[in-house]
Amino acid sequence: MRCPACGASDTRVVDSRVAGPEQEQIRRRRECRVCHERFTTFERAEFSLPRVVKRSGERVAFDDEKLRSGLRRALHKRPVRTEDVEHVIDDIKRRLAGTSAPEIKSDRIGEMVLEALHGLDHVAYIRFASIYLSFASVQSFREAIERLEDDLSPEMRRHQLRLIDEESARTADGAADPPGSPSTDAPPHDPTDESR
Ligand SMILES: [Zn+2]
Repeated sequence: MRCPACGASDTRVVDSRVAGPEQEQIRRRRECRVCHERFTTFERAEFSLPRVVKRSGERVAFDDEKLRSGLRRALHKRPVRTEDVEHVIDDIKRRLAGTSAPEIKSDRIGEMVLEALHGLDHVAYIRFASIYLSFASVQSFREAIERLEDDLSPEMRRHQLRLIDEESARTADGAADPPGSPSTDAPPHDPTDESR
């Protein structure tokens, strides 16, 4: 580490401690052996995720807590283990970290969640889809879940149709909107964003 005062490369660490609100940094005091100037450096682990582009065009940092609460809402009273939910979140974060793109659309993250829920719990999948996609009509809602049909048993299929009717009624009158979701006139709910 070069000295910022004289440019000498011969500096030594005189103090080192954890810092930051979540102790995610190391703060070091260094001293230049040439001019004896003291300066501070911060070290932190690099785990860089792309910025999330919301539907409004706003860029925000990825927030796994928002993702978690969206998943919890979809999985409300469903027999899905907390570990499996955390696994979904970790998996999505890994996929995000693996992209070289500096930005990702929030819709794309929503699709990743849908893919994950598809393999986890079909009821949660439909709930998330009904919250996340703003269905213009019952028909578009039906179309959106058609991709599920192939791997459903006849019993599950009947269950599914009942759910479609329930969810259609729910999304139509908006009476059972989950907390934090927009009013009927507002833009579609962004599953990665609890702040609206
Ligand atoms: Zn110096």
